[in-house]
Amino acid sequence: MATNGPAKDTFTSTCCYCGVGCGVTVKKEKDGSVSVAGNPEYPVNRGMLCSKGLNLQYTVNDQSDRLLYPQMRYNRSMPRQRVSWDEALQRTAAVFKTFIEKYGPDSVAFYASGQCLTEEYYVINKLIKGFIGSNNLDTNSRLCMSSAVVGYKMALGEDSVPVCYDDIELADCFYVTGANPAWCHPILWRRVEAHKAANPATKIIVVDPRVTDTCALADLHLQLTPGTDVVLNHAIGRALIENGDIDLAFINDHAEGFEQYKQVVFERTLAEAARICGVPEEQIRLAAQYIGSAKGFISMWTMGLNQSAVGVDKNLSLLNLNLITGQIGKPGAGPLSLTGQPNAMGGREVGGLSNLLPAHRNLANPAHRAEVQQFWGGTTLSDKPGLTATEMFEALNDGRLKAIWIICTNPLTSLPNVRLAEEALKKAKFVVVQDISNKPETLAYADVILPAAAWAEKEGTMTNSERRISHLAKVVDAPGEALPDAEIICRFARTMGYPGFNYDSPAAIYREHARLTAGTNLDISGLSYSVLQEKGSVQWPYKVGQKDLGTPRLFVDNIFYTPSKKAIIHATPVSFRSEEPDEDFPFILTTGRIRDQWHTMSKTGKVNKLKKHISQAFLEIHPQDAPRLGIVENDLVEVESRRGKVRVQARLTSNIKPGVVFLPMHWGKILGNDLNRANNVTSGAFDPISKEPDFKYCAVRVDKYRKP
Ligand code: SF4
Repeated sequence: MATNGPAKDTFTSTCCYCGVGCGVTVKKEKDGSVSVAGNPEYPVNRGMLCSKGLNLQYTVNDQSDRLLYPQMRYNRSMPRQRVSWDEALQRTAAVFKTFIEKYGPDSVAFYASGQCLTEEYYVINKLIKGFIGSNNLDTNSRLCMSSAVVGYKMALGEDSVPVCYDDIELADCFYVTGANPAWCHPILWRRVEAHKAANPATKIIVVDPRVTDTCALADLHLQLTPGTDVVLNHAIGRALIENGDIDLAFINDHAEGFEQYKQVVFERTLAEAARICGVPEEQIRLAAQYIGSAKGFISMWTMGLNQSAVGVDKNLSLLNLNLITGQIGKPGAGPLSLTGQPNAMGGREVGGLSNLLPAHRNLANPAHRAEVQQFWGGTTLSDKPGLTATEMFEALNDGRLKAIWIICTNPLTSLPNVRLAEEALKKAKFVVVQDISNKPETLAYADVILPAAAWAEKEGTMTNSERRISHLAKVVDAPGEALPDAEIICRFARTMGYPGFNYDSPAAIYREHARLTAGTNLDISGLSYSVLQEKGSVQWPYKVGQKDLGTPRLFVDNIFYTPSKKAIIHATPVSFRSEEPDEDFPFILTTGRIRDQWHTMSKTGKVNKLKKHISQAFLEIHPQDAPRLGIVENDLVEVESRRGKVRVQARLTSNIKPGVVFLPMHWGKILGNDLNRANNVTSGAFDPISKEPDFKYCAVRVDKYRKP
């Protein structure tokens, strides 16, 4: 595929790590390497970059781990051999056709990534849903944002973040829950820090079982017991109602469900809630007081709420706080979910999850399916929801799924209860791995390996956490025979004999995707590719005739996307579905990220500078718990659950609650040793609606490691 733009040596792009989506300039140096700097004109970061963004160039310049050419094997006892692209794609197409004919279209699946560009997502989605006839496309976004997606849809009628980052400077109260943005969304957090420094009366409430760097800025830290978020949010809701700090005009005119909500939050006194959550009652009252007296209130959250067996309930209970106070649809107010991956939003926009259709259309809606089928001109769209991330690996294990194509993600580090996923790939009849690196553990199971182009080696668009669509330029050629992911998928689709995949550029895919959004709530049919390139970034929706920089804020007219046009206040019941600690496994394990690594370290792990912050996996344990287990600082400890074991060094810290332990999620198998991998022990539980796994809560035991 041709890429756009005249010959030049400096390009604009977007950081390929977190969903903050910082703008960068990428310079192609004379020796062929690239240098990267923060783009001072970009509205998100105004030139700033965090430690990961500042080291982006190393991931492009160091090509020592790159996959360079397609490889294949006919049976698993043979070594893989280098083959041509045609040979690899013809074999893959033949195998896929055989399975589809013999077992039906649901016997194959694609498992992709929130790092894919929007155009890549679009063609994968079109291929599997529009032509193969299955909805078996899911991505690792299922592991991080799907509870937030469901929460938005249930409360606001659409998966739509109402606010923009510029609201940060207009708010005077932040409720940051289940997130450590100081480490995981650093540039956004720097904007909050700067705002607080300039406006010291701004109140910051942090809710987290751990004392994180984010807490350094907090006026109030609610160190709750893991899993009690709904109780806490309801208690704050009750206090707001008791104090009269709710917006009755908004509730009466623009929301539904308040009376039922009131009944649910009054089921428990604040004293009872305080006891359940493990936080003082006065702190709950103070949080309510801060929120209730705010002119502009922003709630911020990420995995601590989403990655839970009650993730949707947690999201709804949080959204309720914005709704009962009328803190939505106005400057400096609203819910702001922080996205873990750079393009999880873009993926959802094109329908890149197993239960979605393009432009947030609903798979269950026959009219929506017909509309998309007519547009694509392919097969009748299946009404059966596809397999989600974890379900795909279950289906490989029990034989329902025969073939899986894994794109740009590393499930053997990132999936919960990961040994099940290993078993699944062993049992799979056919595995395709499309990646940039020769490191992911999945490669050991691959029948076909397809080398992909990396960031800065391909062109396209992404959408960040504030609905900002940005253009990423191609700067350098991919090494060897590596190809952009969209080109690989289109070549495969043509090999399968499907029409409609003859795009001459990523811009052509974008244009088709934009046309398909016309008339929907995320309409970008007015945003041409050249306008996007020229403006650098634009926030959706952007309808035909629009000339500005898009739509920074949704629901300014208090009209929501629900059938009644009102927001829904859900009377979320308090339930608990995680694995409870017991005598054998007495600790609660929670997992999370560290400052200088990203996901499974396939890129950040290559950068020596980034390893200096924290170089190896560890277990955080409270100094009250460690001595009775005979554990001192830096001891090797074993963390064991009903599913497996981890062996790492202990870090004694009173930053965590007694009875709770913490493992970072980044480490996988290193030199054959998989005992650093947190997901050896995490639970297979997931939210019943969002199907997002419960990474933040399972029962483990901890022992000092003694050599046998
Ligand atoms: Fe990249 Fe996120 Fe850091 Fe910005 S905050 S530089 S997007 S990792």
